[in-house]
Formats: sequence, C-alpha cells, structure tokens
Amino acid sequence: MAQINTVLGPIDPARLGRTLMHEHVFVLSPEIEKWPAGEGLDACEEWDEEARFADAVAKLQELKRSGIDSVLDLSVIGLGRNTRLLERVARAVPEINLILATGLYTYDVLPFFFRFRGPGTLSGGPEIMSEMWVRDIERGIAGTGVRPGMLKCASDLEGITPACERVLRSVAQAHRRTGVSINTHTPIPPEPWGLEQQRILREEGVNLERCVIGHGGGTKNLDYLQELMDAGSIIGMDRFGIGTFGFDETIGVVVDLCARGYADRMVVSHDASCYSDWFPPEMLESMPDWRWTHISHDVLPALRKAGLDEAQIDQMLVENPRRILTPCEPY
Ligand SMILES: [Zn+2]
Repeated sequence: MAQINTVLGPIDPARLGRTLMHEHVFVLSPEIEKWPAGEGLDACEEWDEEARFADAVAKLQELKRSGIDSVLDLSVIGLGRNTRLLERVARAVPEINLILATGLYTYDVLPFFFRFRGPGTLSGGPEIMSEMWVRDIERGIAGTGVRPGMLKCASDLEGITPACERVLRSVAQAHRRTGVSINTHTPIPPEPWGLEQQRILREEGVNLERCVIGHGGGTKNLDYLQELMDAGSIIGMDRFGIGTFGFDETIGVVVDLCARGYADRMVVSHDASCYSDWFPPEMLESMPDWRWTHISHDVLPALRKAGLDEAQIDQMLVENPRRILTPCEPY
C-alpha cells in the first residue's frame, strides 16, 4: 500500500491526522544569513542556528498541543531549504509528522546552475530538473536520504515566465514518474494564474486531481475558485493570518464554497514560518495572527460558528490532505 514520505520515514496514510498543507519551518537566504547584524545593518537579524532550532522545536510542540498532527513544509530550492537542520527538528518533535517538498521556487528567472543545462540552453539535453526531483523522491533530497512528499512550483504577477514554465513542466514530469502530488504558489490576487498553471500541467498529461493550486484565499472571486476545483484540483486556503485579505472575508469564502459542495476540494494552512529572513521584524509584528496556531485557535472556531460541521472540517483538515499526500501509481 502507498505510504507518505515524512522526514523520519514513510508512514501509513491513516497516521497523518490533522494536517497543515503549506507552511515553512525556515525561509532563509543562505548567502546572507551569516552577515553580522549591527554596524549599520540593523535590519539584519544574525542567524543563530541553535536558537532557531530550539524555537522551531517549541513551536512544533505548541502546534501539536493545539491539535495538529502533520505539517507540510514547502521550502524548496530558492527558499534556503536546509534538509539536515529540518531532520534535526523532526527528530526532536517526533509527535508531529513533518513532510518536506522538492522543486524550485522562482517568480521570474532560474538560478544560473539551470541556465546552461537542459532544453533550450547552450548545452541542451533533457530536463535536468525532472531528473533531480525524481532522484530526490526515490533516494532523498540532495543525497540526504530524506524523501519529500510533495512537488512544488510557483508563478507570480510576472506571469508564467519561461523559467516558471520549465519548473512547472519539470514537476509535472516528476509527478507522472513517481505519483507524488504537486502544490503551486500563485500571486495575490491569484486569478487568472492558477488556470494558466492548470493549462500547462494538463498539457503535460497531469491528472489535475493530483494538484493543489495554492493561495486561493487571496480572492473573493468564487467563479474563479470553482473553475479551478471543477477541473479537479484542490485549492489552498493557505494564507490564514497574513492579513492581505481580511479574516472574515476568507472565512466567508470557505463557508460559501462548502455550502456549494466543495469541502472535498479545499485545504487550509497559514504559509507561516518559525523564522523567515525575508521580513523585517517590525513587519511581522504588524501581523500577530501569522503564526502556526491561528487555525487551531481562531480559524476553526470561526468556521464552526459560521455553520460548518465537524465532517466538513475533517474533510479539509484530514481527508483532503491524506488523499493528496498519498502518492498515486505512476502514469
Ligand atoms: Zn509558502
């Protein structure tokens, strides 16, 4: 029977439980993280690995106490993924299933490593990215032995640039060879870019039921969201707490879509980090709800108050994650 790859090894899908489908333990800029703070660089916070490790462990333990059992960390190439550090964190909190992803995160261009390798480049050849993602899934991320449970790609307001298209097609190919599902980033507002992502994935022969189109919470446009779901995909209502789109509006969208029968096509999450060096501390202070326990403490009570029943909540928090994280047969 198919199993789900977690950092600590494959698990029976029945053990997944309540799952956050788009989070990040760390988002890092590895070439900048050792830069010393101070000396006019007060906007930098110096990276202290032991302090950050302890903080991540404490936050995962708090998340477990709030009722969550599993977390999908979608940090891939471009977000400073540190697999060995994540492995340490997972070992320290074995009560949470931590699941990693592979793929590449860019809104515009590719890292130079990929610019001279693969189709359309000076040296040509097959798509090296698909080979890398398949190898990660079969043997472990970048040779660590830690196998990912999801494929990740992105596009943003720049549109589907040639680089984004190469990444989308490479994860599509890796998905079909391994059965591991796909999760995407779309901009805020997300329309029409989720539909464009679906178009490319469909061209690669992907069953859109195996895809989460991310960041659907950034719009009130139910027609757009329904079009994505009617094509088969799950949408990520996965930025609770960021505050770019109001709390009540996002709750309203989820409740409306559940009333229209789409509870089996949504997952919920925060897209929050234990630590991200992207944002100046004062910016994070202005978003106090952007933390991992916001769904347990605020979102679920609000959904219940708005009339959702436990079966609908379990569908979005347990059943849909289990369905999408359990790999399908390669095809
Ligand atoms: Zn994210």
